[in-house]
Amino acid sequence: MKYENYTVNDIKEMLIAKDVKPSIQRIKILEYIVKNRNHPTVDMIYNAIKDEIPTLSRTTVYNTLKELVKRGILIELLIDENVVRYDMNISPHVHFKCKVCGKIYDYDMNCEIFDKKEIDGNRIEKYSVYLYGTCKECLKKGDEKDGY
Ligand SMILES: [Zn+2]
Ligand SMILES: [Zn+2]
Repeated sequence: MKYENYTVNDIKEMLIAKDVKPSIQRIKILEYIVKNRNHPTVDMIYNAIKDEIPTLSRTTVYNTLKELVKRGILIELLIDENVVRYDMNISPHVHFKCKVCGKIYDYDMNCEIFDKKEIDGNRIEKYSVYLYGTCKECLKKGDEKDGY
């Protein structure tokens, strides 16, 4: 199932399957990530759901995200220099970030190294591949930017 089709019930089941209590803030945070697929930062999530949960603080969002990463439900993206983004831990995929508009695109990994469980006797447990450049929309508009 594509994760953008996840319902609140699917999110609840996913949390329970990972031994995490499906609290309202965990569900809301995951629901935001699933619906938006925008690789959000703590601030993006906090600003989007704070009106729905008046008791929510930025620290709670941060701590919840950290916990969900630890449980293997989310992955951290360090594609930006000074801000962490979050994504669902679905099948391994690579990220392309446009340096002009900042949009992040998901792509499947189709390189044989990513099918391997080990390399040269070392066990592979985690992947992160970041691609940087200018996206097709910006190229079409002729928007360019120096540096990364
Ligand atoms: Zn772009
Ligand atoms: Zn992604």
